[in-house]
Amino acid sequence: MPDPVAPADRLDLFVGDITGLSVDAIVNAANSALAGGGGVDGAIHRAAGPELMRYTDANYDGCPTGDCVISPGFGLRAGHVLHCVGPVWRGGSEGEDGQLAGCYVRALALAAENGIATVAFPAISTGIYGFPADRAAAIAVSTVHKELKKYDGIECVTFVCFSDAAADHYRQELAALGRGRDDPVE
Ligand code: ADP
Repeated sequence: MPDPVAPADRLDLFVGDITGLSVDAIVNAANSALAGGGGVDGAIHRAAGPELMRYTDANYDGCPTGDCVISPGFGLRAGHVLHCVGPVWRGGSEGEDGQLAGCYVRALALAAENGIATVAFPAISTGIYGFPADRAAAIAVSTVHKELKKYDGIECVTFVCFSDAAADHYRQELAALGRGRDDPVE
């Protein structure tokens, strides 16, 4: 058996729309009712089609904050959607950091259980939910980096940013792990 690829070398960054990515699973920034909404949630449901909402309605009674549930991708290129419920930002002293980290922990655990090798995450909670983008990027990168040590079968995790400014926070975090200079990030 070859040595597993180091976690830092399984992290990637993409600036653009998550809904078009051909990965095994894209992550949705859902709400706890799994009721659909604006932002990336609305975009994913539009691209997946109405079967996605029918599926989550039939299979789940919502999802707690900091947790994640899985569905097929239906009309998406991605085979699955991991619906994570990020925290609403309330100033930072209400457990938001731990809840946000929990989304990444649970999503990767579900990915591993389902044989998913490639996953793309949006910047959960940093839109309508108001989580500071730099703090969220630090939590996302450090949590995924740590969790990937458990899951050799997850070959690539892509952080997807909707703007170059948002991506700068990830570039900083990835550079601190030794990524982003000569490596093919993006
Ligand atoms: P939340 O309610 O968890 O804050 P949002 O959907 O409002 O979720 O925003 C989460 C992040 O996803 C924001 O940084 C937003 O810019 C980004 N985003 C919105 N639409 C897309 C998309 N189609 N692809 C990738 N990222 C997106």
